[in-house]
Order: sequence, then structure tokens, then C-alpha cells
Amino acid sequence: MLNIALFGPPGAGKGTQSEYLIKKYNLAYISTGEILRNELKSESELGLQAKAVIERGELVSDEIIVQIIEKFILEHQNAKGFLFDGFPRTYIQAYILEGLLIKLHSSLFALLNINIDDKEATKRLIKRGIDSGRSDDNVKVIENRLVAYHKKTVPVLDFYKEKGNLVNIDGIGSIPEIQNRISESVEKALSKQWINVVLYGAPGSGRATYGKKLAAKFNLVYISTGDILDKELSNKGQFSQEIEKYMNKGSHVPDEIVVRLLEQRIAEKPKAKGFLFKGFPRTMIQAYILDGLLRKHHTNISTVINFNVPTLDLISRLEKRGKTKDAMPYDKSIESIVQRLREHEQKTSLVLEYYKKQEKVIDIKGTLSKEETYTKLKQIINKELTQNHSL
Ligand code: AMP
Repeated sequence: MLNIALFGPPGAGKGTQSEYLIKKYNLAYISTGEILRNELKSESELGLQAKAVIERGELVSDEIIVQIIEKFILEHQNAKGFLFDGFPRTYIQAYILEGLLIKLHSSLFALLNINIDDKEATKRLIKRGIDSGRSDDNVKVIENRLVAYHKKTVPVLDFYKEKGNLVNIDGIGSIPEIQNRISESVEKALSKQWINVVLYGAPGSGRATYGKKLAAKFNLVYISTGDILDKELSNKGQFSQEIEKYMNKGSHVPDEIVVRLLEQRIAEKPKAKGFLFKGFPRTMIQAYILDGLLRKHHTNISTVINFNVPTLDLISRLEKRGKTKDAMPYDKSIESIVQRLREHEQKTSLVLEYYKKQEKVIDIKGTLSKEETYTKLKQIINKELTQNHSL
């Protein structure tokens, strides 16, 4: 999902610029002001409740705004993203928006702040009042709206500045000029976005083979927790002694260590376009950990590729692998292979369910040829990179 909010004083050109963004990114547009005006016109209960406040140029209550936004989101459940105009308009509404988007497993990608000063805003609003007859575009109400803007709305900027997704745009210029500025800023911000893909599947399902190939092709970082642990051991890194202790006992390396190493690996790649995770998350706890880790970087899981290979094929592949230099210890007998596959299914199936509920899982049929599989995978990554899901 790509969610954007248009911000700026009344008259900044939010409504005008919204058309371009809606078309370009295929977004569902919600203008709280427009909805309220329609409610007023139809003299609905909500409209009547808000009438006096709007006519004074003050802000209507958060309760009313939340009702409007929730209804709209519910009616547009399949939207590719939302473009908010006139919301969030108070510091509290910024929190409300965060909460509403968490419910959609998403968040706000950027707040586009279209900057114009009060003089310019007043000039434009008076003209709009004459052209469109909008009743709140008259000198007295305009003054109140600008007062409300400075007092209540401007603090929203601090919220997003702190979060790191505030984008400032100079709002003075022709409509196409400002559109270009918006387009460039959004594209620039999108190009900095990570895509995060979980390669999910049983041992032998091809995650590593294709993961490494995709990482090289798309300039992504392939992260295999198994490989990271091996590397830490062979490099005699800071956690190597502890890792060895657990491995010698035949037990799993605790999450505390795995997470530290994951964090290090992510931090090593500040310019990454994205990450392909293999072998992590294996448990629900690790799924939550990964969500948290990515959120810290203002991002989230974009998609989960499920390598769906029939069990008999897996057994045959692993048995063959057992005879090569890539053999894993459990590849040595059919019995241990079956045991490993069973363990995978029991331990990780909840993780797959978790992502399925979020509608993030794409299945890759194990019956496809190698070429077909790779083509399909390239398409998936390409789509992710261009559409770029965002937090
Ligand atoms: P607008 O069309 O965005 O300028 O909104 C017109 C009027 O609707 C404002 O002056 C407010 O009274 C009301 N309004 C619109 N959006 C909000 C909001 N998010 N919170 C409170 N009041 C709003």
C-alpha cells in the first residue's frame, strides 16, 4: 500500500494536486473537507452537527473525522493506497491516522507539505470564493481558518519530521511546476524505500538458489540467518564462542544472538534497495521480531514468496543434495530428511498463516520449470520495486 497525505494551509493547492497523485499511483482519494461539504449540502445529521463549526472556519471534532475516515476506508478495502487531503489536521489526528493504518498493516509513506504563506493563501481563497461560491472562502472565515491552521494544524509537521517522512514542497508557482516538484519528491522518496521479501519454504525448496540470483539481479541484499551464523563462526566474530556452545549442544541459537547479527547485517547496507530474508522468521516470535526490526527502519514486509514444492520432490532433492558438497547434516538419510521436513512444517506453518492473513503471500508452484520459476520471481520483485509497498 502507498499512503500519502497532502498537507498545507487552505488554498495551498491540495485538491488540485491530488488529481495527479490519484492517477499516477492509483490511490483512493479522501478529502475530509469535501465529504463534510457534501454532508452539509445533503443536510445529514453529521452535516448538521458540523455546520456551525465549519461556517466559523474552526475544526470539527475528531469523533466526526474518525467516523468519516473509517467509513471511507471500509468502503475501499481493496484500495492500492490512500491519498488523504485535509487529514491529519491536528497532532492528535496524526496518531489517529497511525492507528487506523496499523489496522490495515500499513502506515503513512509521506506527508507532502505544500508551503505557501498566509498572504498568498488569502489571495487564492478570496479568488476561489468568487469563482466557486464556496461559503467558507470569505475574508472573515479565511482569517479564522488560517488561525486554526497555525495553532492546531502546523504541529502535525513536527510529528512527521520526527518520524522522518515529512516532504516539503514549495507551493508557489504554476500548477504543472508544483506537480513536477511533487512528482520528483515522491519518486525520490520511493526510490529510497526498501522492499522486504521473506523467502518461505521447506528445506530444498529453492529459496537459497533463487534468493541469491534475485539479490544479484536486483541489487538487493540476501540475508540467510544460517549463512550469517556460519560466517560469524568462521570469522571468529564476537558471538562465535556462544554460537558454538549452542551448536555443540545441538540446540538452536537463541533469538538474542540472531537478532544482533541481523541488525548488524542490515546496518552494513544503508544504501540497500531491499532485503530478501531466508531462514528467518521461523517462529511467530521471530515474525514479530522482524516486524519490529523493520518498523525501526520505517519499513515492513512487502511480500512473502512461498516456494510450494510437493513433499516427495523435496525428499528426492534433499537426498540428491546429500551426495554433493552442499549436503546438510540432515540430508544423510531419508529418515532424517523426513524428520527435518516435519519439523519445518510444524514450526513454521503458523508464520505462513500470519502472513496469509495480511494477504502478503504469493505462491510459487514447485511444479514449474527452473526458467518459469525464475521468470515468475523476477516479475514479483519487479512489481514490488515499482509499486513499492510502504509502511
Ligand atoms: P478543507 O476543504 O480541507 O479546507 O476543509 C473545510 C473545513 O472542514 C475546515 O475548515 C474544517 O472546519 C473542516 N475539516 C476538514 N477536515 C478536517 C479535519 N481533518 N479535522 C477537523 N476539521 C476538518
